[in-house]
Amino acid sequence: MNHTQTSGLAPSILWFRRDLRLDDNPALAAASSGGAPVIPVYIHAPEEEAPWEPGAASRWWLHWSLVALDASLRARGNRLRILRGPSLEALHRLAAETGARAIHWNRLYDPATRARDTRIKQTLRAEGLCCESHKAALLFEPWEILNGSGQPYRVFSAFWRACGRSLHIEPPCPAPEVIPDRPESGETLTLDALDLLPRIAWDQGLHATWTPGETAALERARAFVDARLSDYGGMRDRPDRPGNSRLSPHLHFGEIGPRRLLSLIVAAFGDPTRGAAEPYVRELGWREFAHHLLHHFPETPTEPLDGRFGAFPWAEEDVEGALRAWQRGRTGIPLVDAGMRELWHTGWMHNRVRMVVASLLTKNLLVPWQAGARWFWDTLVDADLAGNTLGWQWTAGCGADAAPYFRIFNPVLQGQRFDPDGVYVRRWCPELARLPDKYLQQPWTAPQAVLTAAGVRLGVDYPRPIIDLAQSRARALAAWERIK
Ligand code: FAD
Repeated sequence: MNHTQTSGLAPSILWFRRDLRLDDNPALAAASSGGAPVIPVYIHAPEEEAPWEPGAASRWWLHWSLVALDASLRARGNRLRILRGPSLEALHRLAAETGARAIHWNRLYDPATRARDTRIKQTLRAEGLCCESHKAALLFEPWEILNGSGQPYRVFSAFWRACGRSLHIEPPCPAPEVIPDRPESGETLTLDALDLLPRIAWDQGLHATWTPGETAALERARAFVDARLSDYGGMRDRPDRPGNSRLSPHLHFGEIGPRRLLSLIVAAFGDPTRGAAEPYVRELGWREFAHHLLHHFPETPTEPLDGRFGAFPWAEEDVEGALRAWQRGRTGIPLVDAGMRELWHTGWMHNRVRMVVASLLTKNLLVPWQAGARWFWDTLVDADLAGNTLGWQWTAGCGADAAPYFRIFNPVLQGQRFDPDGVYVRRWCPELARLPDKYLQQPWTAPQAVLTAAGVRLGVDYPRPIIDLAQSRARALAAWERIK
């Protein structure tokens, strides 16, 4: 039998969203069970994710990930249909046109998408279509792990202990070799019609840094597990070293699932909750925790979980100027500027540096965390509503399991400790490259002769610091005293 021409079985629609892979894809497994033809579709409906429509860097990633997904489907005798929303109408049209009787997708957990999916499922089922959603993005559904009183966890360590008790993950199913199509049916737009790529070419840095798609995700995961996972615990805080997996955008777009990642780790290291693998698997636990929190506290992308912060006295003057300097990597504080420039150039920033730049913005500059979260949303290739909300609320001190407010990161000490040879700052702030290590993280303390010898004119080649770190720390603590 020709694999692309199947019997009279009714086809099933496979609705791709942020699960852009064929490996470990339960919706695909369900749609193709029994040999039925599969109609894979991506429906572009950013307005349905409002107010968190994908930002510019995410749209870039999405474009290339869809290119890769279509190529993988074609290699298996199928192809990706691309439609425009509203999603329900697009699914209706596609089902009518192809004669599909079943629709499968993998679950997403952000509030807008969840509400939409529930409506769609109810409507389609009421019309007699089989409509099933599946678990692919997480190890645990956000509602599966509750404390002894049936309440959500608010502290990571307790949450992760509870997860650890059931961290026996079912083996992921590999990508099928053939995915039978109903080739003659299923209208499609071209990918270019979605207009996901930037009109002004600012994306060279993204191209130079990343290869979106499932094949690259699996390669990156395998290389990381083979070569770097065993050192992760010691290296994960070093932005000057390639110690992290950089799998976050691949995980966000579902190009690799956490089950596959965990199965690679278990194959190489055994028990994922002990030994060398533990620190990394714990980070995957933070990802689970972020989704747990977003599910149970859906207002937190904009509202502080700790209600006292509703009355926090944020700065009233020159917020725009401070925000702009921060966004552009021109605060005059090298580790912060290096991070913000890395973000702009590559769409990614090291976790330690994310905490440092977020702390400077929300504590030293007293700019509301929501403004920082929005900038990250637009510029990160891994922008993820759960992870971004947790990261910002944690650093600002107003979330679940937040750092205590008085823990204000000192960017100079952080730079000296985690970028001790200045490799990271010199890479992203090349105008400071010739400064000796002693002054690199705080050029404003360098004697004039040292600055001159290094070719640095403060205020000309590189900004003077936008803020006094000690004074602004004291101001932040005073602000905290007013609400605590
Ligand atoms: P690794 O160190 O290799 O960790 C492995 C994986 O674990 C990551 O890919 C990620 O999926 C997950 N992970 C690690 N740390 C965290 C964490 N603290 N919270 C949730 N998941 C985690 N992560 C996002 O995926 N999207 C975001 O939008 C995002 N915004 C953030 C904003 C701020 C202010 C902060 C402080 C952190 C944010 N993070 C976000 C978490 C973290 O910084 C990134 O997940 C991490 O830097 C990604 O790099 P990596 O893949 O090399 O991580």
